Amino acid sequence: MARSTAASLKDEVTFTPGTPLESIDPASTPGWEDGQKKAEKELARVGEKLSDLQEQLFAEGRSGGSRSVLLVLQGMDSSGKGGIVRHVIGLVDPQGVAHQSFGKPTEEELSHDFLWRIKNALPTPGYIGVFDRSHYEDVLVARVNSLVTQDVIEERYNLINQFEKELVDSGTTIVKVMLHISYDEQKDRLAERLERPDKFWKYNPGDIDERLKWPAYTDAFQRMLDKTDTDYAPWHVVPASEKWYARLAVSELLLAALESLDLTWPEADFDVEAEKARLAAT
Ligand code: AMP
Ligand code: MG
Repeated sequence: MARSTAASLKDEVTFTPGTPLESIDPASTPGWEDGQKKAEKELARVGEKLSDLQEQLFAEGRSGGSRSVLLVLQGMDSSGKGGIVRHVIGLVDPQGVAHQSFGKPTEEELSHDFLWRIKNALPTPGYIGVFDRSHYEDVLVARVNSLVTQDVIEERYNLINQFEKELVDSGTTIVKVMLHISYDEQKDRLAERLERPDKFWKYNPGDIDERLKWPAYTDAFQRMLDKTDTDYAPWHVVPASEKWYARLAVSELLLAALESLDLTWPEADFDVEAEKARLAAT
């Protein structure tokens, strides 16, 4: 069978509201039939394009442009968020990346509304922002652990949609990704963290407490997807049991976002010929 095109891979992982998360197989590789080896080659190829477009975006930002891209990564513990940062974002110049991970809010963060710390971390023009966890934790862990009332959670979906609309209107292209792993796959990955001294640092005993609430997290993710999937900031559910697939899929999503900007190199804001003449005279 002929290899699927990038466009179809993107379509395959674009979420349709109402689709039950359980109907998406975390071990599947939608839009990709060619296995791991070719996927890794393809990732390298996509990476070169990403790198070129990122430089154009950066140049545009330096030249008075207002556009940026924001990749939002969500997923259960061990779903591979960090791996995406390393293997996909790692393909572009770190100079143009604004990376932020969001953990438990600090005292100061808690004294503000939940979007405060998010707004402080947004990519400025020309940057690719990457959120490892995000404002969505405030409707995920907050919902599962009843950190606020359900009424507050319901209101947050609306606040998030409004916030993202303003963000898009101000020139940020948002790419929202849920890395989708299975309960069994998480067990294997947590077990690995407990077997390998080089992975202990990633392990947190609290991960098991959260794992025990898997069905509640599944409900919270489902509701998040259904309530905050918009035409201006759609969700993508990326099956992530196969790490190579998830990396390829996210790279294709980022590439599509950058391509949609129709980037060009900024015009010189000086007289090129005059500058050549001045230089030649030195
Ligand atoms: P990690 O990404 O493994 O470093 O873990 C970060 C932890 O911070 C996770 O357990 C998240 O659920 C938690 N966290 C992130 N954002 C929030 C939030 N807004 N409220 C409560 N916990 C959060
Ligand atoms: Mg963790």
